Amino acid sequence: MNELQLLPQVRDFLQQNHAHFIDGQYYMGHPNTSIPVINPANEEVITEIASASIADIEAAIFSARSAFKGSWAKTSPYQRGVVLNRLADLIEANGEELAQLETLCSGKTIHLSRLFEVSQSAMFLRYFAGWATKINGETMSPSFPSMADEKYTAFTRREPVGVVAGIVPWNSSVMIGVWKIAAALVTGCTIIIKPSEFTPLTMLRLAQLAVEAGLPPGAFNVLNGAGGVGAELINHPQVSKVSFTGSVPTGLKVGQAAMAASLTRVTLELGGKNAAALLPDVNVDAAVEGLIQSGYVHQGQVCAAPERVYVPRERLQEVVEKFSAALEQMTIGSPLDESVQFGPLANKPQFDKVMECLQVAHQESKVLFGGKALPQLGYFVEPTLLLARNSQDRMLHEETFGPIITLLAYDDINELPALINDSPFGLTASVWSNDLSGALRLITEIEAGTVYVNMHTFIDPAVPFGGIKASGTGREFGSAFIEDYTEIKSVMIRY
Ligand code: NDP
Repeated sequence: MNELQLLPQVRDFLQQNHAHFIDGQYYMGHPNTSIPVINPANEEVITEIASASIADIEAAIFSARSAFKGSWAKTSPYQRGVVLNRLADLIEANGEELAQLETLCSGKTIHLSRLFEVSQSAMFLRYFAGWATKINGETMSPSFPSMADEKYTAFTRREPVGVVAGIVPWNSSVMIGVWKIAAALVTGCTIIIKPSEFTPLTMLRLAQLAVEAGLPPGAFNVLNGAGGVGAELINHPQVSKVSFTGSVPTGLKVGQAAMAASLTRVTLELGGKNAAALLPDVNVDAAVEGLIQSGYVHQGQVCAAPERVYVPRERLQEVVEKFSAALEQMTIGSPLDESVQFGPLANKPQFDKVMECLQVAHQESKVLFGGKALPQLGYFVEPTLLLARNSQDRMLHEETFGPIITLLAYDDINELPALINDSPFGLTASVWSNDLSGALRLITEIEAGTVYVNMHTFIDPAVPFGGIKASGTGREFGSAFIEDYTEIKSVMIRY
């Protein structure tokens, strides 16, 4: 094991008292309880974080609402873009610190923390910054004939919805946070981020950097805690929109609570049981490489990752051999070791959930590779490959959100739409083939928010992303996000 040394600023940061970030500064508030933050690679407590009280939640909402009506409303669209671009620069300048904090809390390998939480977060911010000066309404041609020969015209304005509550999961604590922060700020909203209690530190550091970038106090606040903070935020009448990324059961509660609170707008990005279909002409080497990269990235704890793979029966043997050989090569160990490709699961509840899935797998499926926890401290499990015994195998239907891919052999390409769509989820799917017409015919039949061809899990800020069926509602990225963060105001003028 060859772990890198933590930066002195990371060690200092861990020594501080942590709670929230409200109105442009660290805010210790009125702590209810302290929550230990645990390094999943060794189960050691690395720091503690205070959980928000009702008074802290009120303080954050007051600050966000004041900035929404005041300083951020007065900031020109051009200047909003400048601030987001500066924040992107600061994320890169402080990238190693953010990457180390992410790896310590989540077990993400350090090179992935650098790639996703630093480089891609900065790139997403810059993409959103470009929208700042391009969020416009439309002019309309009046459609009714005038009654008394008067003239009239009409246009629409895109106005920010208000204070946004962003509930961010533990699997990508900076990047998913940045998606919500950037979308809110660039449209003129202000935001309160509620990080996962497992990964509460990076957002606090990001909020400090946002102030350094010139963001006015209150435009971006952070409330930490567990067991009710999220629900209190959603129920507050001054929260105008909720953006939640997380599990289906919690997402359903969030959606219902938001509607009941005051028809609060909601974007839900939930789970998936994402399918990959290999067509008979598949290039097995390329498909196996792509599915291993996308399916086991961050130990499979990625909502878009493929978890079930349909393989033409005549290619099954080849696929199994190449998959197993590639998994054999994977280096498992400390996520702070730069040579390691595969770290621990992110937290104890997630470890327990994956262990339950592996128990089901041993009963229902054939375990082709892996299938066990590693006998050491930390939440390590082996990357696992299963062969389903039939299409009703539970491992083809239950989301594991872990490093488990299940294969099923099929005989006829016409079986694929029914197999792929036999799921309550519809987040992503992929087709692996160079048969253009075969792939295109399948794409139109697949029930998913994103269908990839010869790739999987890639997320680009220019391409809308979100789920159908139980995988969620609303879209992030592209121009689609504007719909979710703005209201249309129609203006009609007689002249
Ligand atoms: P959850 O999906 O249960 O979300 C937890 C977060 O939601 C916490 O911040 C919590 O805050 C908040 N929350 C919980 N209940 C409510 C509510 N009624 N109203 C508002 N906010 C609420 O995530 P877990 O961390 O428990 O992970 C569980 C599973 O979720 C994983 O095993 C995985 O399957 C899935 N997951 C999916 C992700 C994705 O990208 N789609 C990402 C991460 C996890 P508070 O405690 O203060 O209420």
